[in-house]
Amino acid sequence: MTGFTFVFYHFQVVVATIAFGMGIDKPNVRRIIHYGWPQSLEAYYQEAGRAGRDGKLADCILYANLERIPSLLPSRRSEDQTKQAYIMLSDCFRYGMNTSCCRAKILVEYFGENFGCQKCHLCDVCVDGPPERQNLKEEASILLQTIAAEYAHSYTMDDPYDDSVHFDLEDRRFGERSSLKMFVGKINEQSPKFLTTAILWWRGLARILEVKGYIREGDEKTHVQIKYPEPTKLGLEFVKSASEQDFYVYPEADMLLAKETDNRPYSSFSEWKKGWADPEIRHQRLERMQLKKQTKFRSPKKKRKRNANKVRPDLRTSRGRLAAKLAKNK
Ligand SMILES: [Zn+2]
Repeated sequence: MTGFTFVFYHFQVVVATIAFGMGIDKPNVRRIIHYGWPQSLEAYYQEAGRAGRDGKLADCILYANLERIPSLLPSRRSEDQTKQAYIMLSDCFRYGMNTSCCRAKILVEYFGENFGCQKCHLCDVCVDGPPERQNLKEEASILLQTIAAEYAHSYTMDDPYDDSVHFDLEDRRFGERSSLKMFVGKINEQSPKFLTTAILWWRGLARILEVKGYIREGDEKTHVQIKYPEPTKLGLEFVKSASEQDFYVYPEADMLLAKETDNRPYSSFSEWKKGWADPEIRHQRLERMQLKKQTKFRSPKKKRKRNANKVRPDLRTSRGRLAAKLAKNK
């Protein structure tokens, strides 16, 4: 045992980057805490797998910013490798956003093994239970309708397009294709009556629609989260029959968070931070702060002046002159 590993084996807590501890097989690690999204489920499994090698129970906790879509760490990759890395990161992101399926089951089945049951009875989903299912019929249908409308010139309902062909050629004529953010912007403009206006929430819904096969990524690049949605044949059929069928789903982690933070003055802390990089927003905010400061400092002065007026002694009376003298001597 080298001095370094000796120290490692005797510390209670070790804070380190992911590179640390490779090859160190300490059997009784009782807790692994991840701070930030891992790059893949493979990486997460390997890192978290350092806990509980003695066969006893251990905790694995993952802290991640649900408001930010994770990005790849810089590395030298070919085009194919980049694509694969994005798919792996996306799988990891979706694992984190999941609120309804046992995490152990997802992990085990991800690696091609049979979990054999529905629940592990140990993970947060099994212990806390999934959130209440919601009927998002209206939201799902307006999002699908808005997306379908964008591509309306590319198909007719009687002659649905071939799902294997993307909309590329037709739609690029008018410039860039619309992003999910633009679709949500349109929905919010037309009608703010839906569950929320937060893009964070709609992002979650888009993922659910993608999993159900109603929309798909229209961009040839791979994204962690669906970015340029286009409708599928199944999605168009849903739009047609949306008024008849319910759409019960488990809201995902970002959707739950969006509802929680709906009432914050800024849609999220990171949004608020980001705002400072925009010169226009910065200017507005600074002006507002300046104004606040001024009114803060001015108002008590005004008050004092008014009060002073009120109690200014009347020098025409002996009582007033006496009061004035006393005030001066104070
Ligand atoms: Zn479980």
